Amino acid sequence: MTATEAALAELRFHSGKVLVDGEIRDPLSGQVMDQVFPGNGRAVAQVARCQAEDVDAAVTAARRALEVGEWRDLSARERRRLLLRYAGVIEADRDNLARLNTLDSGVPLQMSSSFALGPDVVADMFQFYAGAVDKEIGEVVPVYPGRALDYTVRHPLGVIACITAWNAPVFLFGAKVAPALACGNTVVVKPSELGATATLRLAELALEAGIPKGVVNVITGLGPECGEPLVTHRGVDGISFTGGVATGRHVARLAADGLKRVVLELGGKSPCLVFEDADVDAAAMLAAGMVAYGMSGQGCVCATRAVVHESVAERFQAQVASAMSWMRPGDPFDPATLSGPIVSERQLQRVMSYIEKGREEGAQVVCGGRRLQEGALAHGFFLEPTLLAQVRNHMTPAREEIFGPVLCALTFADDDEAIRIANDTDYGLGAVIMTRDLRRAHRVAARIEAGTVGINLYAVCPTLPFGGIKQSGYGREGSRHALDDYSYLKNVYVDLNG
Ligand code: NAP
Repeated sequence: MTATEAALAELRFHSGKVLVDGEIRDPLSGQVMDQVFPGNGRAVAQVARCQAEDVDAAVTAARRALEVGEWRDLSARERRRLLLRYAGVIEADRDNLARLNTLDSGVPLQMSSSFALGPDVVADMFQFYAGAVDKEIGEVVPVYPGRALDYTVRHPLGVIACITAWNAPVFLFGAKVAPALACGNTVVVKPSELGATATLRLAELALEAGIPKGVVNVITGLGPECGEPLVTHRGVDGISFTGGVATGRHVARLAADGLKRVVLELGGKSPCLVFEDADVDAAAMLAAGMVAYGMSGQGCVCATRAVVHESVAERFQAQVASAMSWMRPGDPFDPATLSGPIVSERQLQRVMSYIEKGREEGAQVVCGGRRLQEGALAHGFFLEPTLLAQVRNHMTPAREEIFGPVLCALTFADDDEAIRIANDTDYGLGAVIMTRDLRRAHRVAARIEAGTVGINLYAVCPTLPFGGIKQSGYGREGSRHALDDYSYLKNVYVDLNG
């Protein structure tokens, strides 16, 4: 029995259901779709295929829950207490949630259980924002002419549509729902059609924690059938979207008609700058790990362009190839597996077409590039981690988001050229600077056009703001700044004359 077969025999989850107004039930549409596990290519669950009527039911439930005030009007103390309780039940269910994250995304259990991506960091997000609930204080504002008192307060936006991508269902739920609830909003979450078991479980845990029914709702379905009616629904006040650039742009256009507030967390093509004074072995391990370890490059902020000083390029490439050789993909449910499959056959073919395109344009495949065809893995969507060298920044694999285990290696001669290559991209999500020279690190960081810059490492943690510029989107998740995106500022003027 494979590790996946053993996990599937044990796992219990909601299949083909929605969670609306506190009830786990079949969709009103009566339709479901197969959920295919990328580790074995088999249908392992069903996903409800919601239509406009399901969207309407979920938004109506969220609106009602907002307006009765059981959540919005709670005292700061009580809302903090419930969010902390929610964090506690997530922690208690951590092993189960990690396995559901693997089931929905194919991300290896080792990474689904890690602090970077798993239930622990989501519990931390709820704790962090629970702590913020009673510390968001307004300002008293000087005002003239005349005698007056003026102060500001923050109010929840209302009903928030949280639309998430398939690659990190547990993490993305926390990144959106925790700050949205802390501000007093209610939410309708729509995860990717590719897998919804973890999202349903997280919403069920909200009920177990005592969060009133209708505050957290989950519907599932295809983008055009379920996502669009959600974005355009009159009962939705704000949208928090994570996904690809083309979809994000479309969502922003639809939201513009209703002048709805939108947060867009989109794709990336992040550079990893390796200077000649860097610890080259550490840089190679980091760069290989970003595309080969865990999510197999299916992470928005993965540094998929290694921009390396020409004097250390040969050594860097040799080290990357060596690291990739032992980061081979395996059964996602095997706790020893470091690297997982691509999410779908379609995405696998897309990734392979980028490798082919790179070859045609003059890049050299140093290692990888082949689909795994041996043993049990042959039925899944596995690709060897791939290093493309002799890449120039105008080539297609360097310009477009591949979302697979492919690292493009480019070279530079001096700092100005490194920065020019790093910024010569439509995206602006992240960047890593590998150097031992702190002055250089800060000088370069100041000139990089990206929402997150890591000096010798990246980190993910609820206290840090995360988001992009340029085509990577706008708005911030994480940190206290996220609270601004889920609330509006009210100014109150009090006449003291007379
Ligand atoms: P996607 O195809 O854009 O889908 C994202 C979400 O939008 C899914 O729930 C999808 O539903 C929904 N959707 C699709 N069409 C829609 C429409 N017309 N109206 C409303 N919603 C619609 O992206 P993906 O393939 O799931 O995820 C990969 C992308 O997400 C990559 O570009 C990656 O960089 C990005 N990402 C960004 C971050 C970040 O924080 N910046 C984090 C993770 C991923 P369906 O599943 O039914 O299509």
